[in-house]
Amino acid sequence: MAHPDREGKAWLLEQKSQRGRRQPVWRAFDGMPQVSRGSGYNGGMDDEALLRYSRQIMLPEINFEGQQRLADSHALIIGLGGLGSPVALYLAAAGVGRLTLVDDDRVDLSNLQRQIVHDSSRIGQAKVDSAAARLREINPLCAVEPLARRLDDAEMAERVAAADLVLDCSDNFATRFLVNRCCHASRTPLVSGAAIRWEGQLAVFRYGEGEACYRCIYPEDGTEDLRCSENGVAAPLVGLVGAMQAIEAFKILSGAGESPRNRLLLIDTLHPQWRELKLRPDPHCPVCGEG
Ligand SMILES: [Zn+2]
Repeated sequence: MAHPDREGKAWLLEQKSQRGRRQPVWRAFDGMPQVSRGSGYNGGMDDEALLRYSRQIMLPEINFEGQQRLADSHALIIGLGGLGSPVALYLAAAGVGRLTLVDDDRVDLSNLQRQIVHDSSRIGQAKVDSAAARLREINPLCAVEPLARRLDDAEMAERVAAADLVLDCSDNFATRFLVNRCCHASRTPLVSGAAIRWEGQLAVFRYGEGEACYRCIYPEDGTEDLRCSENGVAAPLVGLVGAMQAIEAFKILSGAGESPRNRLLLIDTLHPQWRELKLRPDPHCPVCGEG
């Protein structure tokens, strides 16, 4: 290795020396206090994986068990544009074991201002192939499956049911409603993000008792899509919302923390402000209610 990660190596040695003890202690380093680590389980990871993920395995909420859960998990990312870019980059880098990428579009010069998984050398390529190549460079441990087509209802249902979690990074209501229907049917958690101009929103749907779904909030009345191509979008905003989606997915897949329940988070970046809307399930919702 050209630049040995000394802190990481020290940490790795520490983990090895602790292996097998009943009550190992997480040694202070990077100025962190000592924390009891519970079991000596190391997730069966090899040294390279331990080093690669050391900075998040250190988080008591992740630990080896959480890292192993990430490695065993499969996320479906719908759309590899402005939101899908940071989502895919962070989830691959963090060690999600399998990512399925869906997008029927190709990389265009006008995308590169904000769709940071792509670059100038990949203009004209299918977005899923461009993204897959980049993700494999970042983390060869992540299995990436590119699907360069729009999924019909049946295949979407099948792909959603096969995943542990879905990230909706699409730019149109037809896809958003379809993804929500499929996620509700198979009770697959959905992390939904949207961004236009200077404003973004985020919601997590887990389809539990008393929880609203995406269709409870938005009427399926032919409301026109607000697309970046017609309205413009501030580049860092999609990074912000996409990173929020990535962290919600990261928590669900690793088992850390909690999800925002029945809450729609809204951000205005032009006049900086976070707001939150409380959501209520609609008893007449055609997806999750009585119709
Ligand atoms: Zn609903």
